[in-house]
Amino acid sequence: MIVNILDAKKSILNKFISEIRDVTVQKDSMRFRRNIGRIGEIISYELSKSLVFENNAVTTPLGTKIVATPKNDIVLCSILRAGLPLHEGLLNYFDDAENGFISAYRKHISETEFEIKVEYFASPNLDNKTLILADPMLATGRSITAVYEGLKKHGIPKEIHLACVIGSTEGIEYIKDYFPENTKLWIGTVDEKLNDHGYIVPGLGDAGDLAYGVKL
Ligand code: URA
Repeated sequence: MIVNILDAKKSILNKFISEIRDVTVQKDSMRFRRNIGRIGEIISYELSKSLVFENNAVTTPLGTKIVATPKNDIVLCSILRAGLPLHEGLLNYFDDAENGFISAYRKHISETEFEIKVEYFASPNLDNKTLILADPMLATGRSITAVYEGLKKHGIPKEIHLACVIGSTEGIEYIKDYFPENTKLWIGTVDEKLNDHGYIVPGLGDAGDLAYGVKL
């Protein structure tokens, strides 16, 4: 798996990541969602450089121009519910993508132990397509792997791109051994630690709650 950590090179991305972490800015959930969406757009742009391009003739009012455009058949799958604003950002650039949605949540067995429950699945066929799997927080890595386990029933993609905003070193190590070789991870930034509850530290807290409100 090739790991691309996008804040390795300083850019405007740093500002968006700084705002989603900031407890004061987080009070504005619309801004939180918008920033996650903007990060999704940046990930799309970076990821697009690794797609396959084909030349097409474009007719302008004054002539024709050969332009190279991506020819990949993209399926964009996101993990509910925190993946929704990231999905929107990615889809803003890959506007022809097919879309899939999968639910995953942590069912706690004890205060610190949990299993991942994957229940809702809505995905197109993935055979020979370019799968972009979006999950903003790559913490333990167990949600994204559980979701991919289920997605395998929908076909074998030609290649896989994982789109994440904040990850942990441990989560990246965990998924490296799991996903096939033709997988690329695109991640905004990486934090060192997870706490006892499997949350990224310092991270940002609960991305789903920050985007859509606290759940029961
Ligand atoms: N999910 C979140 O929303 N935040 C974390 O830190 C880990 C998982």
